[in-house]
Order: sequence, then C-alpha cells, then structure tokens
Amino acid sequence: MKKVLVLEDEANIRSFVVINLKRAGYEAIEAGTGEEALQQLKRNPDIKVALLDIMLPDMDGFEVCRRIRAGDNKIGIIMLTARTQEMDKVTGLMTGADDYVTKPFSPAELTARIDALYRRTGGDVTADTGEISQPPFLLNTRNRTLEKSGNRVKLTQVEYSIIKLFMDNPGKALSREEILDSVWGRDYFGELKIVDVNIRRLRIKIEDDPTNPAYITTVWGYGYKWGF
Ligand code: CA
Repeated sequence: MKKVLVLEDEANIRSFVVINLKRAGYEAIEAGTGEEALQQLKRNPDIKVALLDIMLPDMDGFEVCRRIRAGDNKIGIIMLTARTQEMDKVTGLMTGADDYVTKPFSPAELTARIDALYRRTGGDVTADTGEISQPPFLLNTRNRTLEKSGNRVKLTQVEYSIIKLFMDNPGKALSREEILDSVWGRDYFGELKIVDVNIRRLRIKIEDDPTNPAYITTVWGYGYKWGF
C-alpha cells in the first residue's frame, strides 16, 4: 500500500487528513511531533510522500524538512501552511519541500497534490535506462541523479524533473506554464510562482554564479531556457 507520512500536531486536522487519505487509497503513518516523524521515516523506509505541518511542539516543519533532506531522502515533501504564512511557502520550498498546501484545504486538493507527487517520486517506474550527457552535466535517468563535473548534485525529485525537462529540450525557451504542466502535472492546483522558487533553488545548486546564471537563463516575460 502507498504510504504517506502525516505530521500534524492538531489531532482533529490530522484525523481529517488521515480519513481522506485512506479514502484515496493511501496508508497514513501518523506523527504529532517532528521527532516522531523522523522516527517513523526510519521505521518505514517505503514512505514516498510526507505532509509536514509547520507549527509543531518540538521543532518547526522546516527543520523536519531540512533533516529529511540532509539524510539524502528523496521522498516527496508537502508543507501544510496557514493562509497568513505567505513567506512560509517560499521558505519551505527553499529548505527542500516540493510543494505546499494552504490551510484550510479541501480533501480533493490535498489528494490531487499527493497523487501528483507520488507519481513523480518513482511510484511509476519508467523503462528509461540511459544517461544524458551535456558537459559539464551528466544526468543518469535510471538512478535519477545529476553530476556536475563528476560531482554529485543533490536534487529533490522535483528538481530532477525540471533538469530532465531542460536537458530534453536544450536551447529551447520553455514557458513557466509548460514547466508547471510537465513537472507538477496538469491536475496541479498551485501557482506559477512555485516554478520560479524551484528554479532559484536549482540555480544555487548548479550555477557557478547563481546571480548571473549561465545554464538556466531567464526568458523575460515567458519562462526559462537551458542555455546551451
Ligand atoms: Ca500545528
């Protein structure tokens, strides 16, 4: 069964989420604190997606996200943010989250996001076994890893999908909508801004000078281009 970690300290919100996940065919692994969430992840290495609340009794959700990513865990991470925490969305994405859902959310919205993320995090296995070499970059599409000049670049699954899209379309201007559709899926409810935030994060990881990008260039008023 497809497992989803639900980290939320408010019991009523957590059970609302859990009930809806079960209805959608997921098994929910519950945690009420950050520490508990990290333990559950160790105990259940087959968890593919985690929902992380931000305000928690022991540590905040960003810290949980950071610790998960520090362990090179490739699970999909969705932050549960409050409506007023506009900046949290960006902070969450910068600490390695793949997506965010604003409270209050509808069950349909939440499960659509989880479904989309689940598909991207290797829930579907493609027959792809190759490598794309565009020096200094080497993308291994079997292991879903990226190397720059022989050094491994740690990527989230979303970042990997964006890089893959770029490397499949070198030199082609891609609109933000195109990137959103391709990476997040057509059923994605979110905003275009998520594309920009992920690009910003990717630039920090792969550009020699992120403020003056040479690989991911901006096409003003349109989108981005893999600049080869
Ligand atoms: Ca909370």
